[in-house]
Formats: sequence, structure tokens, C-alpha cells
Amino acid sequence: MSTLLLALVVGLAVTILANVCTTVYLHRALAHHALTLAPPVVFVFRVLTWLTTGIQPQQWVAVHRKHHAFTGKEGDPHPAELVGWKTVQLKNVAMYRREARNEVTVARYAKDINEDAWDRRLFDHSVWGLTLGVVFLVVVFGPVVGLLAAFVHANLYLGGSAAVNAIGHHFGRRRYDNTAGNLHWLAFLTAGEGWHNNHHAVPTSPRLSHRWYEFDLGWLVIRGLRALGLAQLREPALARNQTAPRRAA
Ligand SMILES: [Zn+2]
Ligand SMILES: [Zn+2]
Repeated sequence: MSTLLLALVVGLAVTILANVCTTVYLHRALAHHALTLAPPVVFVFRVLTWLTTGIQPQQWVAVHRKHHAFTGKEGDPHPAELVGWKTVQLKNVAMYRREARNEVTVARYAKDINEDAWDRRLFDHSVWGLTLGVVFLVVVFGPVVGLLAAFVHANLYLGGSAAVNAIGHHFGRRRYDNTAGNLHWLAFLTAGEGWHNNHHAVPTSPRLSHRWYEFDLGWLVIRGLRALGLAQLREPALARNQTAPRRAA
């Protein structure tokens, strides 16, 4: 395999891992309490989230819940409906960081996400996690493939996350009456997050796909964890029947 192809494959694999951490752990479990994960699984997700994204869960949860509270209106951290999807696509990282650093937002929207000694000593230091993640890739695959893979991952992950907030609030099919759209290709790239219209219709569902033909990697991972007794759904019925939203977004 050529160096470039290997770097692409490794970078894509790391992005898939980061997307699973984001959608299953940060989004569905922490932000919406759609499922509960067994403590050892939570710890694995915390380590992997730190290494592949550098995201501090408390901040991510607060920014995301505020997005649900003010979707498309003044107060939404990334209001594609107000500023246009292109602006959000390009500035999503800056928009996220500005809101994540707002202590009032974090205190108000992530009250239930408590920090422990692991966070204070390790996981709150985003740069350490990301650096360690890159070092791991360099040690395993060598400097050229390792650094290229990290570059591929950074672009795919940040581009995909931005697309959910930008493209996912402008394009796509609207099965339910909200401003988000369903995009199959985006769901494929983001472990299920592209079913954004479905998600805004039923935010508490652990499953973002609402039809058998809608691919949702995050949901497959949750089903696997559940089969192993490592995950519990808050409302099991939600996972079985998704044809109608239980409440508005
Ligand atoms: Zn949204
Ligand atoms: Zn959400």
C-alpha cells in the first residue's frame, strides 16, 4: 500500500473512532441521556475522546444543549438559519470555542456533567490528548504516515462536525417539522449524525435513524454494547418504534 493511501485509511479510521465517541458518548449518552453506559465503557470513551478530539465533555454538552434550546434563533451557538450555512461551515470551530469558553453557558447547560480528578489532571488538557494521539500514530505508522493521517483526520472530523451544524441545517429531507435536514451521505460520514431532522424531532432517542434503510453506525455500536450488557437505553420503546416523534425539538 502506498504511503498516501495508508495515511488516508488510517486517518479515516481515526475519524470513524472520533465520530463514534462524539455521537454515542458526548451526544446521545451525555447531552441527551438517551442511554447509560457501563463505567468501564465510559472510561474508554473518555480516553478515546481526549486522544482523538481533545473535546472537554462538559463544554461540548453545554454548547450542544444550547443549540437545541435556541435552534436557528438568537442564542444558538451556530445558527445556520441566521448567518447562512456557508458561514457556519467555515467558522464552526471558532463558534464552538467562543461558546465553550463562556462559563455562564457551561454552568447553565451542563450542570449535571460533573468533573472529577481525571478531568482536572488529564482530560481537561486538550492539547496533551491531541499531542499524545499524534505521537501514537507516529510511533505505530512512522512519522510520514502518522502525521499525514493526523492531518486527514483533523480535516475530516472538523469538516464533518461543521457539516452537521451547517449543511444539516440547510439541506436535506425534512420528514419532521423542524429546520434540520436528513442527509444519508452525511450520516455515513458522521456515524449517524446526518439524520439531523430525525434527531431534532426526537432528541432523547438513542437511535438517530428512523427507517431500516437509514445507516446509523452509532446505533449499531449502541446495540452491540447493549448485547454485551454494557449499555442501557433510557426508553427502550424509543429504539424500536421511530415512526413518530414523541415530542417536538
Ligand atoms: Zn441541529
Ligand atoms: Zn442533540
